[in-house]
Amino acid sequence: MSRRIVVIGGGPAGTFAAIAAKKQDPAASVILLTREHCEPYEKPPLSKAVLVGDIGPEAAPIAGPGGVTSHDVVLEVRADCAAIDRAARNVVMTDGRRVPYDALVIATGSVARELPLLPTGTPRVHYLRTETDARALKAALRASRDLLVVGGGLIGLEVAASAETIGLRVTVLEVAPRILARVCDEDTGAFVHAAHARRGVDIQLCTALAAVDRDADGRLAAVAADGRRFDADLVVVGTGSIPDTSLAAAAGLSIDDGIVVDAQCRASDPAIFAAGDCVRFPGLHGLVRLENWIHAQDHGVVAGKNAAGASETYKAAPSFWSEQYDLYIQGVGWPMADTTRVHRPLDGNRLLMFDVKDGCVTYAMGVNVQRDMAIARRLIERRVAVDPGVLADPRQGLAALLKR
Ligand SMILES: Cc1cc2nc3c(=O)[nH]c(=O)nc-3n(C[C@H](O)[C@H](O)[C@H](O)COP(=O)(O)OP(=O)(O)OC[C@H]3O[C@@H](n4cnc5c(N)ncnc54)[C@H](O)[C@@H]3O)c2cc1C
Repeated sequence: MSRRIVVIGGGPAGTFAAIAAKKQDPAASVILLTREHCEPYEKPPLSKAVLVGDIGPEAAPIAGPGGVTSHDVVLEVRADCAAIDRAARNVVMTDGRRVPYDALVIATGSVARELPLLPTGTPRVHYLRTETDARALKAALRASRDLLVVGGGLIGLEVAASAETIGLRVTVLEVAPRILARVCDEDTGAFVHAAHARRGVDIQLCTALAAVDRDADGRLAAVAADGRRFDADLVVVGTGSIPDTSLAAAAGLSIDDGIVVDAQCRASDPAIFAAGDCVRFPGLHGLVRLENWIHAQDHGVVAGKNAAGASETYKAAPSFWSEQYDLYIQGVGWPMADTTRVHRPLDGNRLLMFDVKDGCVTYAMGVNVQRDMAIARRLIERRVAVDPGVLADPRQGLAALLKR
């Protein structure tokens, strides 16, 4: 009998897992279950092109123009999984139906971290995670003049840039002494901060939200711990996300700030694999959790192949990108201690720096240097020995380093 592979979650990890599983074992029956109501779509445009332009989230289907079914994968939308019965090897749906599996991939992703002062459902307060959230936020932005963003991380700053682009006055509250503290180095953070400041976005650092008031018109005022008030028509909360491990935890799988998997994406039950935002996997220095698109996609492929009988190891260097105004911001590699920072001085609206350790690049950050970042990724993945003098000299091309 053909193998039954079930994938839970229609984000990039689940969608790529399902497609890779079918490719690996064409005889298998592969089912992708997602609680959302539509074909799996890309999330990155939700905070950018979808808010600024006329395109809808459906414009970027993850599985390509033919959708998931064109890959011979069965897609079930509005398929909310309530439990995993590991003994019977069934996924139990909220309507009581049971979906049997021989191998299961869990790719339930992450959910927005809620601020207790601004719970989901509070009027004029938005969180951004799904296409439904994006449609609601887009409509609200068009009916507002003043936007307050809580959180100077990637999503908060992307929403700030989009809102400013369509004409809103924007204030960002960030509790840390600098923006993007979790994702990039100080220089890149300062570069991005300056781009926002040039456009009039008011970024308030070291500012903790202490209370929220509402005036008679329903407008909101965020009150900072030092008493300052920030009035707004609309608030977007971008304070990070937490892994959605609820199904896996209830099924008794090993959890540690994410579903714990080995390098082959196998969870603590050998019939179950997991991938993407919801997972902690063995990185360079122990277990890590990553929340970015490329990781979710590549991790999903490995989980899907292995669920279909392969034994691939996940080795990719982590990377992320963000788009804010005309800045294309990228990071690749593993940030580490005891590295030497090498800056490559570039003109124009560009920035590039490398961390070097034991003669090899371990991490690179860049703005508007996509080709150089593609080379940096290969230098890191292949552990190519580099001359820091070449990295620091913009007259010398980086591609030559790969030929050594
Ligand atoms: C607005 C936004 C912009 C972003 N921009 C970027 C960017 O520019 N660059 C970048 O690198 N990353 C970006 N990211 C992050 C990136 O999108 C995520 O890292 C990626 O989507 C994670 O993929 P995933 O498949 O692990 O999880 P998710 O995409 O979260 O998908 C999980 C899916 O599982 C479903 N699900 C959960 N539980 C159940 C259940 N019980 N039953 C059925 N289905 C279930 C969910 O409904 C969801 O569809 C962005 C994220 C957001 C929200």
